[in-house]
Amino acid sequence: MNNDNIISTDNLILDKDIPCVMDNKQVIENEDIDYMYLALKEAEKAYKKGEVPIGAIIVKDDKVIAKAYNLRQTTKNAVAHAEVLAIKKACKKLKTWHLVGCTLYVTLEPCPMCSGAIINSRIDRVVFGAFDNKAGCCGTLYNLPLDARFNHRPRQVVGGVLDKECGQMLTQFFKSIRNKK
Ligand SMILES: [Zn+2]
Repeated sequence: MNNDNIISTDNLILDKDIPCVMDNKQVIENEDIDYMYLALKEAEKAYKKGEVPIGAIIVKDDKVIAKAYNLRQTTKNAVAHAEVLAIKKACKKLKTWHLVGCTLYVTLEPCPMCSGAIINSRIDRVVFGAFDNKAGCCGTLYNLPLDARFNHRPRQVVGGVLDKECGQMLTQFFKSIRNKK
């Protein structure tokens, strides 16, 4: 494993205002914030349905080609995470499983399943919002997409873009659930 790619997330979590580029090869792109707002809008749709508010979009050549949000409860399907649903839509739209040149924006750090889907779909770049201490596999618990042992991987993973907004939506959601009980 190339340890240069494995970041210590302790520092990242303390320094949440600054988005973190996991591989240090490239800086945050300006449009990342705008696209993350779109992913947040998807998360809001999940919130309104009583789903854990996580949203994702996929962008290719400056065009949004897929939007999705977590639908695990509605569909009663364990794999209906925002990222997986967005990847399915993007594959359908581009008529290929091969999402080269695409960037995935997601409001929460991808879990192991979604990190696997990112690797398998050959997504080029991943930008996520809040870090996930419990299941994050793009730098927190593991850094699957940048593990050099995989044959194909995204060229860049960026975390912490609008992390406050993304995290707040989740906190608010869980708080509202607790209040209902
Ligand atoms: Zn996931």
